[in-house]
Amino acid sequence: FAGKEVTRIPVIVGDGIGPEIWTGSRPILDKAIKKTYVHRRIDWVEVLAGKNAYEKTGKWLPKETLDAIRDDKVAIKGPLETPIGIGRRSLTVTMRQKFDLYACVRPVRYFEGVPSPLKEPEKTNMTIFRENTEDVYAGIEFAQGEENTKKLIDYLQSFYDEDKFRFRDTTAIGIKPISKEGSLRLITAAIDYAIENNKESVTLVHKGNIMKFTEGGFEKWGYELAERKYGDKIFSMRTYRRLLKDGGREVADQALKTAQKEGLVIIKDIIADNFLQQILLHPENFDVIATTNLNGDYMSDALAAEVGGIGISPGANINYDTGYAIFEATHGTAPDIAGLGKANPCSFILSACMLLDYIGMPEASDLITIAIEETFKEKKVTSDFASLMDDAQEVSTSEFCNIILE
Ligand code: NAD
Repeated sequence: FAGKEVTRIPVIVGDGIGPEIWTGSRPILDKAIKKTYVHRRIDWVEVLAGKNAYEKTGKWLPKETLDAIRDDKVAIKGPLETPIGIGRRSLTVTMRQKFDLYACVRPVRYFEGVPSPLKEPEKTNMTIFRENTEDVYAGIEFAQGEENTKKLIDYLQSFYDEDKFRFRDTTAIGIKPISKEGSLRLITAAIDYAIENNKESVTLVHKGNIMKFTEGGFEKWGYELAERKYGDKIFSMRTYRRLLKDGGREVADQALKTAQKEGLVIIKDIIADNFLQQILLHPENFDVIATTNLNGDYMSDALAAEVGGIGISPGANINYDTGYAIFEATHGTAPDIAGLGKANPCSFILSACMLLDYIGMPEASDLITIAIEETFKEKKVTSDFASLMDDAQEVSTSEFCNIILE
């Protein structure tokens, strides 16, 4: 992207609060780019998806939209309505799978002045790498009933020869595939990110104590990869545990201290339920997180709440091998407030900042981030924050965007 004067970026404006967020955000992006790059600009091309697309074209995800993303490689999207109960998979998940966007990257950082349930929210600053294509999200599911059970057995028999599976008629079944290659590419992205950005640690979050081969595999493969591929750049807590057993605590502690002093990335692991407890008590102990799909989904929103909620948490879905990336507001269409000027545009704007960083326009991204920091200091906020702050004035989405712009 770096040598291009004009970069074309498809924009899926989205449903519900999507249009009001895009209307308010676009001038901010354009102004920041104009102020920081003389010879570069972005041509935002609106493309259709979701309910809006269905109403206009009869298709939820038109081919033209997929073609535009395929041509331009990088896109940004607002929230899309997923119709419930008609057997339609979420459009967001469909796009992630279509472009094999295996890493869902969710930075969690605190902006001064934002309401938080934590005593010291400023200690929270981490990036979650969630595996994005596997796990129960692969959508391999079978409804209850004899006929579906037969389909499941057929499915299982495509993997196994023996006819030994028996399921009760009242049981619905989901399958949780976790592959070594799928896990490794996600963990590689997380470790590369940690090394490039001088982060202190990468934590593998898993439920390997219960799901030994899937979640346990994720942990085991992660450590193996870190030790094999990143040898002198990392220190693995598996090595620490080995030293503890063979040489005692003093030897192990000394090795860890030396590694930290030398700036090596510490590779550690934690069981998912304990992680959710520790993150509230000691957020400062976590830096880069690598985890499986469903764990990552729960964690991303829970951690977002620590720093102001999904209205302010940005996200990206990236394939680091092909370069394809879709940046997205992490919240849904918020039908309860759509059209009322109450939506917080920060999740979308900060996702756009991630996009600007990705295509090599970090100065524009930094300028917008500073403008948002300054805006929060003025204590003029959208309704989601105003309802949690005693000393803030509620402003509409467009007023809030104008303050950032100024
Ligand atoms: P939601 O995120 O739309 O809303 C949850 C709550 O958060 C609501 O009270 C809403 O008002 C509030 N909220 C969300 N975004 C906000 C913002 N920017 N500013 C202020 N408040 C905000 O989740 P939901 O109600 O479960 O889902 C509604 C629809 O969105 C469904 O159709 C769902 O499938 C879809 N959805 C889409 C995405 C996506 O496209 N990535 C993600 C989640 C949900």
